Amino acid sequence: MRQPLVAGNWKMNGSREGVGELLDGIARGAAGLDKVEVAVCPPAIFIPEAQARLAGTRVVWGGQDVSVHASGAYTGEISGPMLSDFACTYAIVGHSERRTYHGESDTLVAQKFVAARKAGLVPIFCIGETLEEREQGVTEQVVAGQVDAVLALGGAQLLGEGVIAYEPVWAIGTGRTATPEQAQEVHAFIRSRVAVSDAEGAGSIRILYGGSMKPDNAAELMAQADIDGGLIGGASLKPSDFLAICQAAG
Ligand code: PEP
Repeated sequence: MRQPLVAGNWKMNGSREGVGELLDGIARGAAGLDKVEVAVCPPAIFIPEAQARLAGTRVVWGGQDVSVHASGAYTGEISGPMLSDFACTYAIVGHSERRTYHGESDTLVAQKFVAARKAGLVPIFCIGETLEEREQGVTEQVVAGQVDAVLALGGAQLLGEGVIAYEPVWAIGTGRTATPEQAQEVHAFIRSRVAVSDAEGAGSIRILYGGSMKPDNAAELMAQADIDGGLIGGASLKPSDFLAICQAAG
């Protein structure tokens, strides 16, 4: 039985003034949601605040990215050990915004997956196709390549220690959600791809859907057999919406 996970990706949003209210609101609302794991990934500068406010609540926290290096002369980077130092559970790796705006390749993302695990973090490993790729009919090839990069570098056991987030790039922040059938089809394919190297791991790995998940479409998406929760961008910035999605997962 896979426990659903709903993780909020705040991206580069939030302010010193508003962060406390947002964290407290989510923690309060999540208190009774015992069937779902709830996580938030604020910008790194707010992680100490997340730790201060969420420790002892049902909500865990994580980073939005992680360096492949543990320390050193890498200006602007945040390392896995630093995230662990602030009690992060998760680190998002390979978000499409990192792949698109920062040129992160499948190989680099796989290295980040490994770096996160080395620091004791659970990677939320984002994969997904662009609109162009979907229209060309190569969605399965694209996600297979992204998964295979982690398998090649770390092996099936390592992959199984993470969480996969299927996020069709055309659905992120666009208001255009994949239909439950479209999402389920790709999720089932991803699970079958993992099963090629690890049948047992494929049954237990959680595969989240991400891409304009909102309170009004969450239940139907998460009712699909291979959808084990959500990675939520925009809606994670409004506690009532985020909590409604968490409720739909449980
Ligand atoms: C995301 O950033 O991972 C995401 C899914 O964003 P949104 O929910 O806003 O589409």
